[in-house]
Amino acid sequence: MMVEASARNCSSSWTVLQAAHRLCRRYDFESKSAGVPTNVRLAEAAGADAVLIKPCLPQELAAEIRRLLSQSHELKARGRELREKVGTQRAKSQELIQRSEANQRRVALSRVHRRGATSAPPVAPPALLCPTCDQQMKYVTSQIGGVSERYPEQWDYFECKACRGTFEYRHRTRKLRASDPLRS
Ligand SMILES: [Zn+2]
Repeated sequence: MMVEASARNCSSSWTVLQAAHRLCRRYDFESKSAGVPTNVRLAEAAGADAVLIKPCLPQELAAEIRRLLSQSHELKARGRELREKVGTQRAKSQELIQRSEANQRRVALSRVHRRGATSAPPVAPPALLCPTCDQQMKYVTSQIGGVSERYPEQWDYFECKACRGTFEYRHRTRKLRASDPLRS
């Protein structure tokens, strides 16, 4: 007669013993009703983690139980490792999702970024003197541009009532230069 002991998912020697006992009883029942398997390989093929042939020494049984226990500890450690790996992967994918959401927000921000002509620009136009005749110039309008909210561009347009000159002032470079005649 044989004793099978399955140690998969066993957490203590008590569970191993219980499993061994259960398998033993099942085997007893099966052997009475269906006959004894012809060899050890048959039992192993049936999925037994250990096969002991009776009569067997208590030391042999104890050794098998110890072997199965350490196997179950190994399995548990491997399970822990896998869980940790899954956790790391999940954190990584969470980070990727957040990054892509931030990217979408950035794209949306640059889409809503205001562009075009306005007479109420974000930065107040400076008071400038005409480079030709040194007279106070009159602010006319502004142009807003740039790639995004973070990198804005603003051009202010001025005209000189005295010499009829028209100029544009770029905020990023702080340069004033002559411009085409203003439309407004
Ligand atoms: Zn002038």
